[in-house]
Amino acid sequence: MSNLDARADLVVCQEEVSNATQVTPVEVLTPREVPLGGLRAMPVRRTLPQRQRSLIGAWCFADHYGPDQVSETGGMTVAPHPHTGLQTVSWLFAGEIEHRDSIGSHAMVRPGELNLMTSGKGIAHSEVSTPSTTVLHGMQLWVALPDHARHTAPAFAHYAPEPVEIAGGRVSVFLGSTAGQTSPVATFTPLLGAEVVISASATVELEVDPTFEHGAILDQGSVDFEGTVLARAELGYVPPGRSVVRLRNPGDDDARIVLLGGTPFGEQILMWWNFVGRTDDEIRAAREQWQSEVASPGRADARFGDVPGYVGDWIPAPTVPAVPLRPRG
Ligand code: MN
Repeated sequence: MSNLDARADLVVCQEEVSNATQVTPVEVLTPREVPLGGLRAMPVRRTLPQRQRSLIGAWCFADHYGPDQVSETGGMTVAPHPHTGLQTVSWLFAGEIEHRDSIGSHAMVRPGELNLMTSGKGIAHSEVSTPSTTVLHGMQLWVALPDHARHTAPAFAHYAPEPVEIAGGRVSVFLGSTAGQTSPVATFTPLLGAEVVISASATVELEVDPTFEHGAILDQGSVDFEGTVLARAELGYVPPGRSVVRLRNPGDDDARIVLLGGTPFGEQILMWWNFVGRTDDEIRAAREQWQSEVASPGRADARFGDVPGYVGDWIPAPTVPAVPLRPRG
């Protein structure tokens, strides 16, 4: 998915000191609703980045959407757009999305299956919900690439973790390790990504790496995460130091969260539109290059390249601010 804001704001992402206290050990990030664009503008609920907190490990972007009736929202139609310096993680609960990219990947994104696209130095992709999709429900996540890996070659990985029954619920580990499950998909920084279903009136305890910070995003039902009850699409954050995270479902139906984790990123990044970089110059250069490819597709000097099989216009970059994009602080 893309950040489709016609006016793209610069976001500086860096580690933040937690404002959680002994009394309220969980910092709650409330989502803001953002229209994803398209004719009828499918709304998404964004918890990362925000002023309060912009990174959880290398996780730098989190949108939650649906369940949406495609007949009402028009579904997802995200035309070719570029990325740099990041990986995208598509995780669906319902529906199907057709992914195409400029390294020739053509994949169907389906519920419970990880699709991880590494932009590295540059990639372009499109995402369109399939005609048979009536309900669209899922998450779009981005992972910032560390400095040593951000110019790597673009890549695409698919992995369908087996959901595993655990005490109190069920877990699907798509990146990293917990509950005795380990994803085979390599990451450039230590990460955790898992879908966790908590049975009615049950508690799930997950062993986690104590050097990781964690965020739990509530998808459905009600969950008490480490002593704090989350509302739908809210993200509960806990700093490093825990070897177990506890999820309690006080409700009468299954509840579901996505648990994200990672070691504190330790690098400051600039995020503008669909680009992650380190300096104003490189963000502007990526934008200029994309604009040149939009104006004349199939350029010999393509950095992002064509998206084979996609018919339609590409998404032009927003206007870049006249003032330099500068890190805060
Ligand atoms: Mn995208």
